[in-house]
Amino acid sequence: MSPTIDPVTTTQTMPSQTSVVIIGGGIIGLTAALALSERNIPVVVLEKGRIAAEQSSRNLGWVRKTNRHLFDIPLAQAADRLWAEMPERVGADVGYRQAGIMFVGRNEAQMAMHESWINSVQGLDLNSRLLSRREIEQMVPGGQEAWAGGIFTASDGRAEPTLASSAIARAAMAKGAVIIENCAVRTLVRTGGKVSGVLTEQGEIRCDQVLLAGGLWSRRFLGNEGVSLPTLPLICSVMRTRPMEGPTEIAVGAPDFSFRKHHDGGFIVTQRGALDACITWDHVLLSRQYLPAIRAQRHVMRLSIGKEFFSDLALARRWKPGAVTPFEKDRIRDPQANPNLNEEALRNLRAAWPVFQQAQIAQAWAGTIDITPDSNPVIGPIAQIPGLTVATGFSGHGFGTSPAAGQLAADLLTGSTPIVDPAPYSFKRFA
Ligand SMILES: Cc1cc2nc3c(=O)[nH]c(=O)nc-3n(C[C@H](O)[C@H](O)[C@H](O)COP(=O)(O)OP(=O)(O)OC[C@H]3O[C@@H](n4cnc5c(N)ncnc54)[C@H](O)[C@@H]3O)c2cc1C
Repeated sequence: MSPTIDPVTTTQTMPSQTSVVIIGGGIIGLTAALALSERNIPVVVLEKGRIAAEQSSRNLGWVRKTNRHLFDIPLAQAADRLWAEMPERVGADVGYRQAGIMFVGRNEAQMAMHESWINSVQGLDLNSRLLSRREIEQMVPGGQEAWAGGIFTASDGRAEPTLASSAIARAAMAKGAVIIENCAVRTLVRTGGKVSGVLTEQGEIRCDQVLLAGGLWSRRFLGNEGVSLPTLPLICSVMRTRPMEGPTEIAVGAPDFSFRKHHDGGFIVTQRGALDACITWDHVLLSRQYLPAIRAQRHVMRLSIGKEFFSDLALARRWKPGAVTPFEKDRIRDPQANPNLNEEALRNLRAAWPVFQQAQIAQAWAGTIDITPDSNPVIGPIAQIPGLTVATGFSGHGFGTSPAAGQLAADLLTGSTPIVDPAPYSFKRFA
């Protein structure tokens, strides 16, 4: 089950050459394609399934600076500006509303974390502020929980994943980009060590540069090219309610639920305090690198070992050029929503804001997130493979920054002044 994406008619015929090939038609590949096509650079996006059918349509749509790493905030601020300009740029509503994001805390330990984050971003002009219980009640009326306090950033907001990717794809195509769905890229083609094209299931395209924006598949693609990118999958379950009267336009995150208004008048709800970690061989291979993250986040992870271990093991890690790849065998990763987590989220939400007693669930789905060891993306060149740039590993928060992240990738590909300092996103940090 997946959210319904605003349909886009893409191209059927694959050109034999271009300037830049983008592997992956998620929000990152699409925003990069938009930026490149606006610079009149020939670009072809190749998507193994349907555009935005994996993480980029399944996410919650939060566009936030709150609780980001200090070094990730300039990218988020740049993204805010680009989200605000997006409707005019793409000629369509992408659901962007700067209605604010609030996190509420149940105890002093949770509030201490919010306070420490606020202190760390002093001087960045974010207008984030701590909230008392009384302020929470005024801003989100009808609550029943005795919150210890909260944190609020008025300039945070939301955009609509099922609208945004399609609108961006349409605009990129109108500006000259070619987007081809159901076309998996199998391998890079190199000449004299440098990228000179890609081999797809429909044949070869020659190009000068490749951007890999393959989400959770980037690790497998790079592994076959001899490069180890550390990312691990985590599954997040989500629900959408039918249209209803809600307490606020603000997106609210509590320790064990979150909600935000959907453009049709319903709400997007999730169990914020739990993600499914279905063990795969990669968890075994990368466990040492992730130990600090696992220690810090173990209360959030629901570990299990089951059929995912074996289905993942059955997918090839190495293949020869021309062989059928895992990307063709798994066109759209569509994990099952965890009904227990969704029930927990709804129960906790209803206890906190009883207006949600009337919530009727219209749809439930899940999405697989690609997490790096430090929970930040990799955006930049891969030194071992000249001509290859990656923008991947967005660790569950790449939708919000996507307009700026895609632009940063485009800047790096074209040698333009980067929209923000790319140093924190370098692949070298995992060396
Ligand atoms: C449930 C959930 C909730 C989330 N909530 C938020 C949120 O509120 N705010 C936020 O900022 N972020 C959120 N995220 C994270 C956000 O969705 C992602 O960071 C973002 O969508 C990543 O975009 P992407 O383009 O890198 O990846 P994807 O959307 O996964 O796109 C990658 C694409 O590449 C394609 N591909 C891969 N390999 C190949 C190949 N070899 N050939 C051709 N195509 C290929 C795939 O089919 C896929 O479509 C959430 C994620 C999930 C799953």
